[in-house]
Amino acid sequence: MKAIIFGAPGAGKGTYSNRLKAKLGVEVIAMGDIFRAQVKENSELGKKVKSYVEKGALVPDEIVVEVLKQHLDGIPQGSGVLLDGFPRTLEQAKTLETIFQLDVIILLDVPDWLIIERLSSRRICKNCGTVYNIKFLKPKIEGICDKCNGELYQRSDDGPDVIKDRLQIYQDQTIPLLIYYREKKTPIITSKTTAVDTPPELLVEQMFEELKKLKLA
Ligand code: ADP
Ligand code: ZN
Repeated sequence: MKAIIFGAPGAGKGTYSNRLKAKLGVEVIAMGDIFRAQVKENSELGKKVKSYVEKGALVPDEIVVEVLKQHLDGIPQGSGVLLDGFPRTLEQAKTLETIFQLDVIILLDVPDWLIIERLSSRRICKNCGTVYNIKFLKPKIEGICDKCNGELYQRSDDGPDVIKDRLQIYQDQTIPLLIYYREKKTPIITSKTTAVDTPPELLVEQMFEELKKLKLA
């Protein structure tokens, strides 16, 4: 299966891709995680992308595409792949087409008010990247990851002003991709979240059922 998980910042792409990875055994490539790790290491790539990531701006397409290709090269032939955070621009979508044929788009449909609520109370494990929320998806012990005991932190781009910019960029640059994929008739599985306390397990089950219908799971 070649899939992308698609949705606004804070829609839950990281949460769901991790769960789908566990359930389906697919390889996940999460662009944002890759960039954040490079920034933290202060690598050459990290230095190039730091200012974009911190401002919530898009990293230039050439860089993103290069990084994607490198990561795809590291995945065994024939593995299922789930892309989180790619493509985000029409240019990136067109490049992806030259790399592989996409089987399905998993679209996370979450209302704006809920996104803002979530982003501002989101916390992430420094060690394993598991996503928590201090209001809706609390760790068992405050500030500590349930899975690995790692320390939880708040992303530097989860502040109110940057959140607004990220949502605007999503509207302007990323939403148009849906029209593009609809025209190309790529199957889209839509997963709708309507309440703060919708349990991820339930939505993952629904996604799984839809993937089975498409013979992808
Ligand atoms: P979000 O929660 O906003 O979906 P991600 O963790 O996916 O965040 O991405 C964080 C940041 O990494 C983005 O704001 C952007 O700066 C950069 N980034 C990630 N993916 C891409 C991409 N496909 N194109 C350009 N920039 C990207
Ligand atoms: Zn952890």
